[in-house]
Amino acid sequence: MSELRRDRVTGDWTIIAPERGHRPHRERRAHDGVVQVPAFDPSCPFCPGNESSLPGIISETRSAGVPGWSARVVPNKYPVLTPEDAGKSTSSIVPGFGYHEVIIETHRHDGDLAALALGEATDVVRTYVGRYLELKSRPGVSSVVVFRNHGRRAGASLVHPHSQIIAMGQPSPRLAATTSWARDVYSDTGRCPTCMEVEAELSQQLRVVEVTTSFVLLVPFAAASPYELCIAPRRHAASFGQIDDAEIVQLAALLQQSLGRLNGVLGRPEYRFAIESGGDDKRHAAYNHWRLRIVPQVTIEGGFELGSGLPINPSCPEDDACALREVLNKEGA
Ligand SMILES: [Zn+2]
Ligand SMILES: [Zn+2]
Repeated sequence: MSELRRDRVTGDWTIIAPERGHRPHRERRAHDGVVQVPAFDPSCPFCPGNESSLPGIISETRSAGVPGWSARVVPNKYPVLTPEDAGKSTSSIVPGFGYHEVIIETHRHDGDLAALALGEATDVVRTYVGRYLELKSRPGVSSVVVFRNHGRRAGASLVHPHSQIIAMGQPSPRLAATTSWARDVYSDTGRCPTCMEVEAELSQQLRVVEVTTSFVLLVPFAAASPYELCIAPRRHAASFGQIDDAEIVQLAALLQQSLGRLNGVLGRPEYRFAIESGGDDKRHAAYNHWRLRIVPQVTIEGGFELGSGLPINPSCPEDDACALREVLNKEGA
C-alpha cells in the first residue's frame, strides 16, 4: 500500500508508491550507453586554449603542470540574472538582478566529478565556498544557490564538467518556504528540524547510507524521487558559508562517494544537485540548517503531479538506502 509522507525538514509531501511498476533503475540500465568523450574538444569554451570564447575569468585555482589550473570560475555567457540596474519593482515584477557564474571543475573535457583526485574535488568544493562567501557579501544579494546539472535531461548544455552558482536579490522561494516551516517547528519544539532529523536517522539507521565525523548521507524520509540523497552536516550551521576547512575535505570525499554509489546502482545516471543554504539572516540562524541534495533523473513528472503538486516516488526510501549502502563502489573515488 502506498503512503503519503511529509518531509520533517521542509514540510513537503510525497506519495511513496513502490508497488507502481518496475524498479526504475532496471529500466534505466537498459538505456545505458557509453558515450565516448574526448579529453579535449577544440569547440568547447571551457577547454584550455579556448579562453577567447569565454566572457572572462573571475578566478582560478593554480596547480602544477599543464595548463596550470585545476578549477576555474568564469561568468556565465548566458546569465539568468545580471547586476545591471533595470529599473523599478512592482508587486509582480522585480528586475532580474543577480550574478551567474560557472565553475569549471577540471581542464579535462572528459573529466568526471565523481572520479577526480580528492585534491581536485576538494578544490571544486573550496571554490564553491569562496564564491558563495564573495557573492553573498555583495550589496543587494540575498540568497546564493550552488548547483550542478549532469546530463542533458538534467539541464546541462555543455559536456565539460562544470557547476554553477547564482546569486539573487531576494530569498529563493525554496529558502522562504523551508525557513517558514523550520520556524514553526522551532517554535513548537525549541529545536532545529534538521538537527532532530539527523539524530533520529542516526538512531533508526533505516535510511542512512554513510556517516562521517562531520556529515551524514541519507535518503530523505519523504524523498520525492528514487535514490534521492541528502548530505547534512551533523554540526548545526544555518549557512553553507560556515563550513570549515576540515569539513570541506570531508564534503568533497562524501560527494564523490555519493555520485559513485549512484553510478553503481543506476549506471551513470543524469542528475542534479544543489546546496540549500539557510542564508545568513541571524533571525533564522537557530532553525535553518544547510544541506546538499542530489536528485538522479530517473522519473518524469506526469499530469497528477502537475495537478496536485504531489510528487509520486515509485520507490521506497528504505530500500533505496539499502541498495546505495550495499553497492560496490567501483566508479567513485
Ligand atoms: Zn571542454
Ligand atoms: Zn540544525
